[in-house]
Amino acid sequence: MKMLTAIAVTLAIVGTLGTAPVHAQQQFVTIGTGGVTGVYYAAGGAICRLINMNRAQHGIRCSVESTGGSVFNLNTIRAGELDFGVAQSDWQYHAYNGSSAFKDAGANIELRAVFSIHPEPFTVLARKEANISKFEDFKGKRFNVGNPGSGTRASMETLLEAMGMSLSNFLLAAELKADEHGAALCDNQIDGLFYGVGHPSANIQDPTTTCGAKLIPMTGPAVEKLVAERPYYAQVDIPGGLYANNPDATPTYGVLATFVTSTKTSPEVVYTMVKAVFDNFGDFKRLHPAFGHLQEADMIKNGLSAPLHDGAVRYYKERGWL
Ligand code: GLU
Repeated sequence: MKMLTAIAVTLAIVGTLGTAPVHAQQQFVTIGTGGVTGVYYAAGGAICRLINMNRAQHGIRCSVESTGGSVFNLNTIRAGELDFGVAQSDWQYHAYNGSSAFKDAGANIELRAVFSIHPEPFTVLARKEANISKFEDFKGKRFNVGNPGSGTRASMETLLEAMGMSLSNFLLAAELKADEHGAALCDNQIDGLFYGVGHPSANIQDPTTTCGAKLIPMTGPAVEKLVAERPYYAQVDIPGGLYANNPDATPTYGVLATFVTSTKTSPEVVYTMVKAVFDNFGDFKRLHPAFGHLQEADMIKNGLSAPLHDGAVRYYKERGWL
């Protein structure tokens, strides 16, 4: 794990006219993401790529770390061991307010929002032969609830509680990472899985193509109640035909992926990062199909519960967005 490390690198650059050395500061920043087959990893990669393009001017070197997901990223930013992270909007909310999974840790008032990114519908996938048409059909079956530290897992627990269910309702509650869940489904080690992710995602594409896995709708009173009561949830469809063997739209509910940091990160660094993204927004949107529909105006307000970081505010004001 890397800290934001300000390393003063003295670059003795000899100018054309003479001899005065120029001192440039090199800073390393790390973005915590998720599994390498998910969309967070691609989002972090896209952000870093745009920053690193102008490294010679600002001296910031951005790198991406694959992690367990949202809850891990939020905890690790709080500990000062990650500078930035991608996190679901529901867990950003709870981390800032010290609620739900963050009750024991307490409110992290240093948490800062930078912008939101793509929608993450909660995605339930079933093995074709498992005979599943609704979530409750997984009772008594083998189900992947997600790895601890993922936003997926934390949101799964919220859903189970809302449905009056618990992990013991499954014959097996597997804790596989998203990078492993597709192969496990097609190898008949699990009957279904839950995953909060942007679409299209490689690790949903694989099992739908390889073994005809089916997207399962997430509707009904418990989901309706969750969406009605909680500001960070919204009803959403996974479009039909996006994945092989799933021609119809799948209704479900979901959150937004958000990009977060803390007050420990300097306004200069955050300003440079948001400038790199929004000055090159067309390029950013082309770096993953899940980013294709993003709109700047939505990204600086939707799904953000923590205050915007000062460095982001400076750039958004310059652009006349705030
Ligand atoms: N939303 C997921 C989580 O926090 C990660 C999704 C992704 O890696 O794209 O668990």
